[in-house]
This record gives sequence, structure tokens and C-alpha cells, in this order.
Amino acid sequence: MTDAQLEKYKVKPGSKVNLHKIDANEYKQYSGTKEIALEEMRSLNMRLDELQKTQHGEKSRKILIVFQGMDASGKDGAIRNVFHSVNPSGVYVAHFGAPSRMELSHDFLWRIHQKAPANGEMVIFNRSHYEDILIVRVQNLMPKKVWERRFHHIVDFERMLFDEGTHIYKFYLHISNEEQRRRLQERVNNPDKHWKIDPNDFKDREMWDKYIESYNDVLNRTSRQWAPWYIIPANKKWYRDLIISNILVKELTKLKMKYPKPKMDYSGIIVK
Ligand code: AMP
Ligand code: MG
Repeated sequence: MTDAQLEKYKVKPGSKVNLHKIDANEYKQYSGTKEIALEEMRSLNMRLDELQKTQHGEKSRKILIVFQGMDASGKDGAIRNVFHSVNPSGVYVAHFGAPSRMELSHDFLWRIHQKAPANGEMVIFNRSHYEDILIVRVQNLMPKKVWERRFHHIVDFERMLFDEGTHIYKFYLHISNEEQRRRLQERVNNPDKHWKIDPNDFKDREMWDKYIESYNDVLNRTSRQWAPWYIIPANKKWYRDLIISNILVKELTKLKMKYPKPKMDYSGIIVK
């Protein structure tokens, strides 16, 4: 996919996106087939592996990839498929559930900052500090004045990470309301998937419109050139993975990462 094709998924800072108008079924316009997509995915997986290997060797930058989306939007599946081939050394996934009492007794970024990547590391956030605006707002967990000021806190926090050498990419997995219904029903129908169900998912689903409204605000107010949001049409899993992988490979290639220079010229040395 070309830069221009991928550019449309990026939320331009200051633009007004409206999720109601974004097609979660975009795969229907895809000119290839699922088989072609999976083939391309294999090669993207290999390229991501190369990029991560170089980043790990280079040890001079940090990469943070954030996944957000409604329940059943496919965050776990996307992480599994996109990072399928990378070397588990140097890649970490941090999953953020409801904060513990101890976490709640600190500021909301305390637990997040601890999981942020170090040099040479790639860290994937499965949910993130954005829940401290999203669910907090939708479920009324804190007063408006608290979650409202977090927009600034988050933008400043991410800017600080960037200034200190962190490249940030944020993916919002966009599924339709009907697709969420279908996926949750499928979980109910399949006892093997019951472990995935949280009774709160059904309650959260009733708040769908409020979530969309909150996501609209987050996407509109926290996308930056140095920490952009990408809205990924996610009703079809293979299409979702294909777009995310294309974006990551394209963006990480732009960083022109290199293995460090050898400490000396080793050529011609005979190892005895
Ligand atoms: P899951 O990702 O499906 O395992 O669910 C994790 C749950 O934790 C979701 O319902 C999130 O909304 C919730 N959660 C994550 N972060 C926060 C937060 N900062 N405050 C309250 N709930 C949260
Ligand atoms: Mg949940």
C-alpha cells in the first residue's frame, strides 16, 4: 500500500473526525481477496521482524504502540497477528484493566509510565491511559473536571515521551455496533469463549453512543504529528491486520534504524 493510501487512516491533528461516518466495512472495497491479504501479511510480518531486530540492536529509541477499541473490537487478535513474527526479546505487551486500589491512590499516569518502553524496546499497550478519559467519562467514575483536564495531561505526557526518544503510534479499532453484537453473541454461543466474557461488556454495550462520542473527542483532541491516531476499519479481522501492519512497516521504515557501528574493524580476524 502506498503512503497516500495509508495516509487516510491517520487522524490529522486538529481535524474533525466523526466515527459515525467512517465505514468499519471498508474491506468490501478492497480489490484483493482474503488469500492475497494473508500472503501480503506474511511478508509484512517478516519485515516487521527485521525492523524490530534492528531497533533492538540499535538500542537508541523506544517504540510505543497503543491499541484502543470497544469490547470485542479485536485488540488481542490484532496484537497476536501483527506481532506474530517478532522476537519476543525486546517486545512487551502491557494490558491495562481496571486500576487496583494501589494504582488508584497514585496519579493516573503512574502505572502507565512504568510500562513505557526503554531504549531498544517495543511496547504494545492493550488499552491505555486513554481509558482514564473514556471509561471514566462514560461510567461517570470521576467528575468532568477531572477527566477533562486529562486531555492536556495525556498530550503533554506523550510529548515528553517523544522528546525523550519514544516513537508513538496509536490505533483505534473501529467496529460497527452490529459487529460488536454479533461477536458478543458468538462468545455467548460458544462455551469455549465464555472465559472472555465480562458481564460488564453487556452494560458497556448499552452505552455505545456515549463511547463513540467520547472516542470522537479523544481522536479529535489527542492526535499529533508525533503521536498520531489511526482509525482502522476493523469489521473484518484480516483486513484490520493488513492495514495496521502496512502502517507500522511503513512508519518504522521511515525511522531509518541501523545496527550500531562495530567497536572495531573485525574483518580478516581468524578466530582460533
Ligand atoms: P479487557 O481489556 O477486556 O480485559 O477489559 C479490561 C477492563 O478494564 C475494561 O472494561 C476497561 O474499560 C477497564 N479499564 C481499563 N482501564 C481502566 C481505567 N483506567 N479505569 C477504569 N476501568 C478501566
Ligand atoms: Mg470489558
